[in-house]
Amino acid sequence: MSEFGEKRERIRNLMEYAVPEGSLDEALDLLDIYRDDRIALDLLHEFYAFLPEAKNDLVREIRLACRRQGVFLLAAMTRESGYFYLVSSEGIEFQGTVAEGMYDQDVLDFFGYSGREQFQAESSRPGKFQVYEPMGSDEDLCPACHAATGELHELGCPVELCPWCGGQLVYCSCRFEKLEVESLSSEKDLVRFEEILNEQGRIPYSPEQRPSFADEGPGVIIE
Ligand SMILES: [Zn+2]
Ligand SMILES: [Zn+2]
Repeated sequence: MSEFGEKRERIRNLMEYAVPEGSLDEALDLLDIYRDDRIALDLLHEFYAFLPEAKNDLVREIRLACRRQGVFLLAAMTRESGYFYLVSSEGIEFQGTVAEGMYDQDVLDFFGYSGREQFQAESSRPGKFQVYEPMGSDEDLCPACHAATGELHELGCPVELCPWCGGQLVYCSCRFEKLEVESLSSEKDLVRFEEILNEQGRIPYSPEQRPSFADEGPGVIIE
């Protein structure tokens, strides 16, 4: 979580210089919508670090043009214009303005367009680009450690279930019983616990584990 916190802080600092006077609140509201979304945070960081028209501006909306295999073509919409960015966990690349369309044939091929004309014709249809949904609302990601469905949680994640008792692994007492100790005091104990945990078989993330905010469990705190 702190990784996203640092990124938001860097974006807020850039905004102080980049956003036109009187619009900072609007820019911050959008940042808040995408507070836990790595892809959107990368886009906002890139936009505010290298303003595409080299003048003060702000992103009012992020729209999704195409997505395939973890690669997103997003449009950062401003008051007067829009800019395409290709974003993935590998990095981010500016692709030009929405008005001019896409020129990079490799990118067009990747998303299945024969060429710039076809992309322009389809993207000019009204409502073609829907608003990009923040990942925090994605049920296939653990809200605390961002493990995907079927992946193991980060050890210590409060959403991980205990394979012995079915409770929350960070709160139940199975670790003391399994190690036959009163408390886990050393790094060695932790390593040994991880070993017996792996032998038993850890429970990977699945959407039913999402904490329900209504119930008064032993306090899963999600920032
Ligand atoms: Zn988790
Ligand atoms: Zn347990």
